[in-house]
Amino acid sequence: MSTSLPDRQYVGEDWYVQPPTGGLQLRVSDCNHCGKRWFPPRFACSSCASHDLTQNRTGNTGIAYASSHVHVGSGAWPKSYVLSYIDIDRVRVLMHTDSDRSLDPDTPVRLVLGRIGTADDVELWSYRAQPDLITQESQR
Ligand SMILES: [Zn+2]
Repeated sequence: MSTSLPDRQYVGEDWYVQPPTGGLQLRVSDCNHCGKRWFPPRFACSSCASHDLTQNRTGNTGIAYASSHVHVGSGAWPKSYVLSYIDIDRVRVLMHTDSDRSLDPDTPVRLVLGRIGTADDVELWSYRAQPDLITQESQR
């Protein structure tokens, strides 16, 4: 009897980086004309249309801005999951969240790579938010 790993597809893999030091960082674009920061990265500013952008990365920690528990997933998504807007280094990004309930505002999180869904027996993986329990505990 043999076991095989499920097929895995990475979603938006041009939008994040796994640095050798560990963790996960998002790729962002900083407009050198108006100062806005964008995720996902882009080659023209969506605010002032300048093409003078610098490509950067975020850190790998942020805080929850808002969060919601989705109880009726459909298609590739799980039947039940949590989505959160995460503020990380001047961008606000919607992402799947490793939690069985919505996060309180300002909950510290770290970015991780993990499964966000399954389509046709292929696991879909991308960036996720994981509540940072160590940071939470030290703030009490
Ligand atoms: Zn701009």
